Amino acid sequence: MDKLEMDIFKTDLGEITPMDNFGRDESFFRALIENSADAIALMSPEGLITYASPSTENVIGYTSEEFMGQNGFTLIHPDDLDAVQAALAPVLKTAGLSATFEYRFRQKNGEYRWLQGTATNLLHYPAVHAILGNFRDISKQKQSTDLLLASEEQARILLAREQEALRQAEVAQKHLNDLFVQAPALISILTGPEHRLALINDSFRWLYGNREFTLGKTVRENWPDLEGQGFFELLDRVYQTGVPYMGNEVLAMIDRAGTGILEPGYFNIVYQPANDARGKVSGIIVHAMEVTEQVLARQRIQNNEARLRRLIDANIVGVIFCDMEGHVNEANDVFLQMVGYTREDLQAGEIDWARMTPPEYTEVDLQALKALREKGAIPKPYEKAYYRKDGTLLSVVVTAAALDESNPNECVAFILDNSMQKELDQRKDDFISMASHELKTPVTSIKGFTQVLLKRFEKRDEPDIYRFLSIMDLQLNKLTKLIGDLLDISKAQDGKLTMEQKPFELDTLVAEIVEQMQATTATHNIKLEGKTNTTILGDRDRIGQVIVNLVTNAIKYSPRASTIVVRMLHREDQIAVVQVQDSGIGIDPIHHSKIFNQFYRVTNPDEPYPGLGIGLYLSRQIIERHAGKLWVESTKGEGSTFTFSLPIVPDVLP
Ligand code: ADP
Repeated sequence: MDKLEMDIFKTDLGEITPMDNFGRDESFFRALIENSADAIALMSPEGLITYASPSTENVIGYTSEEFMGQNGFTLIHPDDLDAVQAALAPVLKTAGLSATFEYRFRQKNGEYRWLQGTATNLLHYPAVHAILGNFRDISKQKQSTDLLLASEEQARILLAREQEALRQAEVAQKHLNDLFVQAPALISILTGPEHRLALINDSFRWLYGNREFTLGKTVRENWPDLEGQGFFELLDRVYQTGVPYMGNEVLAMIDRAGTGILEPGYFNIVYQPANDARGKVSGIIVHAMEVTEQVLARQRIQNNEARLRRLIDANIVGVIFCDMEGHVNEANDVFLQMVGYTREDLQAGEIDWARMTPPEYTEVDLQALKALREKGAIPKPYEKAYYRKDGTLLSVVVTAAALDESNPNECVAFILDNSMQKELDQRKDDFISMASHELKTPVTSIKGFTQVLLKRFEKRDEPDIYRFLSIMDLQLNKLTKLIGDLLDISKAQDGKLTMEQKPFELDTLVAEIVEQMQATTATHNIKLEGKTNTTILGDRDRIGQVIVNLVTNAIKYSPRASTIVVRMLHREDQIAVVQVQDSGIGIDPIHHSKIFNQFYRVTNPDEPYPGLGIGLYLSRQIIERHAGKLWVESTKGEGSTFTFSLPIVPDVLP
């Protein structure tokens, strides 16, 4: 019932007085009614059709006979019925009242068509005593009205759309404006041949430390710092030719702080000509992005790369780029020559540092890789070896650093050929071994004869000869010890330093040595403190050699002191401890770990002490071979305490 229209009005009964007309000539009216195009019907207030004109058939398909006797309301479309009845209600109540309304009505063929009907209450006319209805088919008009309404609706939608588009355009405009003002790019608009500033965004101001530019002034007035750098001339050219200018990473010296000091800046610049309505250039849009940081960062990388490249190409050391698994991706000529591989081998991916490493160096490599992963670099170069392509061994010194913190698997390694050094070391070791062997026999022989002579002269009255022979014997003892140490060094290097495995009482050994050494020492008093009451399983002579070394050093390095303390302790954790303490020159902590290395001596130019730097190295080797430890605690100028600990043999053992 959406478009059902109603109109209620009072019939102008004053002009048409049906009563009079009916009375005058009924046949005249009947003729009128029967020939009218509109259908005319009379019905009771309940809707019963009591009369229908012949034209009814034209309008609703029912003949007047068929229509009469039906209830008109039953043929009204159910959706329109309520409205029709509502419109009829006042008509039924009031004599003479009329109402016009539109509704759908079911035709004889079952189809609904739009009718316009007018109902007039003629119940008070005795001759009629009915509701007079006349109705006509308005389906056609209705259709065109619907079309009209549809086009009106369309127009309304179009208008709404237009308004929405307008609103969106406004939003876009604002957005554009914000974008322009806040854009990270430097944007300005220049007009006229002198490039007068018409518009400038905030980024431009920020670039110049929030400086204000004057609109209407020329670029030369606004940017005096750019004078002589070619930018104004470029603008002139763009203005004259209409050809845009585009420059990447253009260097501009700019006065950022307004202090008169020009600083370099790099910019990607576009000068875009803007045309007026007639297509003539009327201004220029300047768009620039500062790229200084990127350019400088890239330059730094390029410089570093160039430096690295120079280092690699200088071929001073072997350089490889590799990963931690072993793949070598790049190598310089020195490395390739060292290991006997070709560049083709490298390109074919055949060089693998892990596969080239003999198994005995796997452990040091693993430590180096751990440092690389954790700290990005190896703390100090280390010695190792590689198999060359031909299978021979090459001694090297290696250090490496992770290339990129984000990808620590990649690293650069520097490799120094160490074979010369190794060869020298070997020659030195061979010499020591040979020399000590060669010296041993004659010295043993001299020692034997000296002993014989000492015995002979002991009872003769030749005190001088006896004294000289005693001195010779003492010096020969020193020489014998030295030769013994040198031989031991060679053996230790070859892994041939043998140790006996026999139980012995530690306290007895220590006491014996202290007694012997006290007998030959006039300058120092050697005090023995404590007891261990323990049995040690091992080489009694070798442990004795360690105690002799420590006491000898304590005497040697405390020339101005008179007491040495040899202390023994039995620790609760089944460990026997022997300490040798002096009040001598002491050792700076930086040397503490190094004095146990072969031939390492702390130099003391003011007060040179004789020695070869072998004793502590051998002592540590011996103690460690007994599963013990040897260490030092010392302060320079105050004295030193050397301590060794040894595991105690449980009582069950013999
Ligand atoms: P050497 O005494 O023959 O030089 P060692 O291996 O016994 O060789 O000792 C190595 C170095 O340790 C010595 O050169 C010396 O500088 C230092 N050193 C050893 N013992 C002491 C000590 N008791 N007091 C001070 N320095 C010592």
